[in-house]
Amino acid sequence: MVQGRIIKGIGGFYYVDTKQGLYECKARGIFRKKKITPLVGDMVDISIVDDKNKKGVIEDIHDRDSELIRPPISNVTKAIIVFAVKNPKPNLSLLDRFIVLAEKEGLNVVICISKVDLDDDNYLEEIKSIYGSSYNIIPVSNKLNIGIDEIKEELKNNISVFAGPSGVGKSSLLNSIDSNLKLEVGQISEKVKRGKHTTRHAQLIRLEEGGLVADTPGFSSLSLDEIEAIDLKEYFIEFRELSSECKFYKNCLHENEPDCQVKKALEEGTISRYRYDSYIQLLHEIRDRKRRY
Ligand code: GDP
Ligand code: ZN
Repeated sequence: MVQGRIIKGIGGFYYVDTKQGLYECKARGIFRKKKITPLVGDMVDISIVDDKNKKGVIEDIHDRDSELIRPPISNVTKAIIVFAVKNPKPNLSLLDRFIVLAEKEGLNVVICISKVDLDDDNYLEEIKSIYGSSYNIIPVSNKLNIGIDEIKEELKNNISVFAGPSGVGKSSLLNSIDSNLKLEVGQISEKVKRGKHTTRHAQLIRLEEGGLVADTPGFSSLSLDEIEAIDLKEYFIEFRELSSECKFYKNCLHENEPDCQVKKALEEGTISRYRYDSYIQLLHEIRDRKRRY
């Protein structure tokens, strides 16, 4: 038996990356009976059927640490959330939504600020002042070849997904990271018009420097439907440590409760007013949704 990771799945075949190379595998029928479908990202045990032609059979699927829906990949460890300084105009409330969804999945979050070659308004500094104490912020320009090595460093020893609005340069960044990749770059409308990618499945790309990265961006739906009001605060990491000191501890929503350490930190200026307001806004949104049903 050989161990490996599924990096691609097409038409009932799974491509398993092992120390001995890449094997094209079928899954044992038993998985169908158990209603388990092998997933890109899964660690598996395979038996080799034909070593010359690199064919095998998946005998066992290891337990998953996590499972993303978009893209459908298991065991992802890191989200690189990409926002551009310009074109498209940055929307911080959207950035917070991406962060919340990534934190909910337990991923390590890195913020990549792209197109810094267009940063006339010094938007990068603004981002650093809001997020810099909580997250690693990597400035990138595909055009000027800035920050690519830092991104590669983040990808090492991880299974990563890129996330962020369309047009920020995610495909360009993947192309810069791996010169073998030739992902289509351009406005989303053009990509859809050509329609080539619509049926393509997510796969993991193995990088020379180490690490695996999804070729499809994460969290294309930014709905907070799966999040309860009481849990939202857990996904704002600068609140987390303070929470345990709040009078109402686990039940404190850091809104109007007495002896709230988050509000205290806000008044003292140790947490960002912007992030706090954004939290309250998302909290209201979650509550309004509950009322609608
Ligand atoms: P995606 O939708 O996030 O995958 O973005 P794309 O990679 O398709 O890029 C969208 C547009 O931004 C394209 O026209 C790219 O040429 C452009 N772009 C990508 N990276 C940069 C960059 O670093 N600087 C500038 N000025 N434009 C970029
Ligand atoms: Zn509190």
